[in-house]
Amino acid sequence: MSQVSQALPEAVRGFITPASKKMLIGGKWVEAASGKTFSTVNPATAETLAMVAEGDAEDINRAVEAARKAFDTGPWPQMKPADRTRVLLRIADLIEKHRDELAQLETLDNGKTIFESRNVDIPGAAETFRYYAGWPTKIYGETNPSDPSFFNYTLREPVGVCGQIIPWNFPLMMAAWKLAPALACGNTVVLKPAEQTPLTALRLGELLLEAGVPEGVVNIVPGYGPTAGAALANHPLVDKVAFTGSTEVGKEILKASAGNLKRVSLELGGKSPNIVFLDADQDAAAAGAFMGIFFNQGQVCCAGSRLFVEQKIYDQFTDTLASSAASVKQGPGLDKESRLGPLVSQEQYERVLGYIDIGKKEGAQVKVGGEANQALGKGYFVKPTVFANVNNSMRVAQEEIFGPVVTTIPFKDEEDVIREANNTIYGLAAGVWTKDVSKAHRISRALRAGTVWVNCYNQLDPISPFGGYKQSGFGRELGLHALELYTQIKSVWLKV
Ligand code: NAP
Ligand code: MG
Repeated sequence: MSQVSQALPEAVRGFITPASKKMLIGGKWVEAASGKTFSTVNPATAETLAMVAEGDAEDINRAVEAARKAFDTGPWPQMKPADRTRVLLRIADLIEKHRDELAQLETLDNGKTIFESRNVDIPGAAETFRYYAGWPTKIYGETNPSDPSFFNYTLREPVGVCGQIIPWNFPLMMAAWKLAPALACGNTVVLKPAEQTPLTALRLGELLLEAGVPEGVVNIVPGYGPTAGAALANHPLVDKVAFTGSTEVGKEILKASAGNLKRVSLELGGKSPNIVFLDADQDAAAAGAFMGIFFNQGQVCCAGSRLFVEQKIYDQFTDTLASSAASVKQGPGLDKESRLGPLVSQEQYERVLGYIDIGKKEGAQVKVGGEANQALGKGYFVKPTVFANVNNSMRVAQEEIFGPVVTTIPFKDEEDVIREANNTIYGLAAGVWTKDVSKAHRISRALRAGTVWVNCYNQLDPISPFGGYKQSGFGRELGLHALELYTQIKSVWLKV
């Protein structure tokens, strides 16, 4: 660990010390009740970065009790909405103030390039807090035109204690997507970051306290899914659970919610179609197809992992994509020149290489990549991979790979591609590339997906809702729709 520590960028040296990182419960930094810790690894080197307190059911219980107390008797839900706004704005400012440190920490823990963490993840997290900072003063109830001998109105109240379980692909940004709307609505939270990437959530915990979030309002318990995560999903004092991750675990969360009928929102996997027509701006489509799959090493729930290309341009288009993939600069995330980093973990590395083998066995043709990038040492580097002549029924076209692997599928016409694009259990996102405006609108309506991008891809903004159709989950995060997830409505009757 000492070797790694010496190489740490200056901004993060104070945060990653040889002492293990603690968890945040009731406004205090504490060890796990069991005293256990686990290591978080730098995916670029496969070396341990830091040891972190390993929360389990007992710690989740302590955290839920702290959140319960903060909700039932603490100042946060009762606070003047404009004062909650001020706190949320301070959080956004503090994230921006510590932008370099957070970006470096994110890159060290997740592997993603500093280019992306600095330009996407960290500003995206700050903007999410800033967007939701505007909401507390704009969450209205109604007065209802009832029988004149009564006065009836509604109150839009917070749901209560929210359990939030997040994945490792955008650690800080996912924390922001979850925390910001929950806090804006006056809830309290127990957040469980992914075991692979706990560090930026813990640093955020420090910033939340600095911004004036009262004790117990946000509790952060790192730990493993089957222990800490499951305890949170099952806890009888949790009112709502919000989960982002695999569809498989999403189903477990839903089952666990039945115990006390928690409200549930699920943002799950995808196998999003990205559709390129002959009449598209070919250069823009090629750049969009590339970014659509290789952004964040393909570890993106809405990645355009099924690339449908109109038959007449299929060979030329996939050649262009393959040559861009061959020339991308892959390397350690901290290198400013890197545009593709390692995968997050040994497990994910093996999983992605396993899928590449499956694709080869299924008869898909490797146009480029198709193997680990061993020249880059011990890190979890997989070369960007383009599979050609894929059939939509192959496993590599149906199952979420979550890596830098695109399956390219030729199509004949509009009818053919709509049918095949929708032929998936998922429905998170889709892309369409065409200059024909009517066709763009027709296809946007025909696709069963929560987001459709026309002549762009991966466009996100806290003002616009994001979430899935079908087995990509339910509930919409971001935008005003996330307020539905974190509030409930009370009808009050008064005899006049
Ligand atoms: P995952 O298991 O679904 O992890 C997501 C979160 O859920 C993590 O915090 C995880 O904890 C937690 N968790 C795991 N099992 C749980 C349980 N039984 N109860 C409560 N919480 C639980 O995802 P993964 O294993 O990291 O990745 C596997 C695959 O999931 C990926 O290859 C990809 O296909 C998909 N995935 C999708 C997204 C997305 O954004 N939609 C994100 C990540 C992964 P741990 O940190 O301990 O695992
Ligand atoms: Mg890590």
